[in-house]
Amino acid sequence: MNDCLFCKIIRREIPSTIVYEDEEILAFKDIHPVTPVHILVIPKKHITSLAELQKEDEAVVGRIYTVINEIAKKEGIFEKGFRVIVNCGEDGGQEVKHLHFHLLGGKKLGVKIA
Ligand code: AMP
Ligand code: ZN
Repeated sequence: MNDCLFCKIIRREIPSTIVYEDEEILAFKDIHPVTPVHILVIPKKHITSLAELQKEDEAVVGRIYTVINEIAKKEGIFEKGFRVIVNCGEDGGQEVKHLHFHLLGGKKLGVKIA
């Protein structure tokens, strides 16, 4: 057991709106959406950040991208396009210390990245 917010969501100790789940991956709606579709996709294994990724995690990260495509289709944003963001560390603006992929879509996003 740990104090990580997203691990608590995985364990159903904190409510969330889950849109996808399998043995290794969970996806749920961001509580403060910045776009009409804003979903967080996470590995169930607690990986602190992208910077902590281990060789053994490569497969699940690869699968996360496949799952993102599936969710994008389900959410109706696959055809028009979407954006995937991973914030890493302090300068990257990472607030929750459990690796997560933001899936953003449902409107035309700007080109500015910083
Ligand atoms: P980041 O800044 O990349 O660490 O993103 C963390 C994201 O988690 C933010 O977009 C928050 O809105 C989102 N978030 C924080 N708490 C919750 C929660 N309980 N359920 C869903 N999303 C959350
Ligand atoms: Zn965690």
